[in-house]
Amino acid sequence: MDYKAKLGRNIKSLMEYRNDAWKCVRCGLCRMGDPEDVDGQDFIDNCPAGTTYGFELFYSAGKWDLIKCLTAEPPEIDEPTELMKKAIFTCTGCGRCQEVCNYMKGLEPMNAFQALKAYAIEKWGIKKEHNNLVQSILNYDNPWMAPRRTRAHWARKLDFKLKDATKEDVDILFFPGCNASYVPEIVPTARATANIMRSVGIDFGILGEKERCCGSTAFRCGAFEMFEKYKKQNIEQLNSLGIKTMVTACAGCHSTFSHNYAGDLDFEVVHVIEYVARLIDEGKIEFKNNLDMTLTYHDPCHIGRYGDIYEAPRKVLKALPGVTFNEMKRIKQSSMCCGSGGGVKTAYPEMALSVASNRLDEAKEAAGASTVVSCCPFCEINLGEAAKARQDGTKVVDIMELVEQAMKG
Ligand code: SF4
Ligand code: SF4
Repeated sequence: MDYKAKLGRNIKSLMEYRNDAWKCVRCGLCRMGDPEDVDGQDFIDNCPAGTTYGFELFYSAGKWDLIKCLTAEPPEIDEPTELMKKAIFTCTGCGRCQEVCNYMKGLEPMNAFQALKAYAIEKWGIKKEHNNLVQSILNYDNPWMAPRRTRAHWARKLDFKLKDATKEDVDILFFPGCNASYVPEIVPTARATANIMRSVGIDFGILGEKERCCGSTAFRCGAFEMFEKYKKQNIEQLNSLGIKTMVTACAGCHSTFSHNYAGDLDFEVVHVIEYVARLIDEGKIEFKNNLDMTLTYHDPCHIGRYGDIYEAPRKVLKALPGVTFNEMKRIKQSSMCCGSGGGVKTAYPEMALSVASNRLDEAKEAAGASTVVSCCPFCEINLGEAAKARQDGTKVVDIMELVEQAMKG
């Protein structure tokens, strides 16, 4: 048994999880935050799928039961019901269940549920909504059906020219990813990051129109086969650059390159929040502007539980002048997912928004903050939409934008 299994890494075929399915004792601990970390019962619930639908099949124990039925010989289910499919594809892959269960019993529920998605696609076909994402990655190198030639348009508003890493030698590659390249609400993150790196004298480049999706979206939906093919071309392209460090602006890119490309890349992969925390430690960043705000931090699953990056964002936020930083109740390993991951935002947008709204309630009630800061575009898009729908003044902001503002004189 692997008691230190990485989230989303080394996922086996569903049959190989058959024995594990019988070891789930339905203790239910994986549907909660750790009582040591979560103060009080108001926000103790965790599993976003189970919490939303309030039905056993949507929690880990129910999905293990489904795995038992599907891996029986002969299988006890030929044709799944719509409810079963929904239970499989509303798992956001947040990793909370595995965080608890791997430590206690050596099981890997979230990895098994990823294998369950892949099995479902193989047997019953891909969901229409997910197929659109996957086809878009294959045809456009991004999940948004946006043309390749506009991928670097985010950089047009910078007042300096970025190096083209496909033509010029650079040690550091900035990889904004599909969201920061194309999604208008997230594009400022790419510009803020480029401005910060430039202002402290870092010599870096981008891939521009040649940048390709990391493939995370396809992998999280369970389209493993397509992901593996796509990944090969990325490995070839990225290793040919001769870079030493890739700085990603996206939590999804970071966890995909770190876990799903593990051992295949010839350079280190660093999320921009770790990179900026390093620059602060080295005394290279000087803050001149008082931000005068109260905020809280939402740990993205793909930075927190997947990446064990908990301290760097807190260090950066605490270094910002004029910031009052309050923690929410569910933080770090017990953080609550924003509700968007695993293809849920695309296929079950109502669930994604309801989970996000619940998280914003927590920010307000538990942390007294109307500004929620994060460092993952998927979280920011989903929490941002939920904030807009509430019309109560809640704002969702990326850390890099705050760092940039605080650096301005
Ligand atoms: S998956 Fe693990 S933590 Fe969750 S109910 Fe089963 S045994 Fe308990
Ligand atoms: S990964 Fe998250 S959403 Fe999926 S079953 Fe586990 S706790 Fe629930």
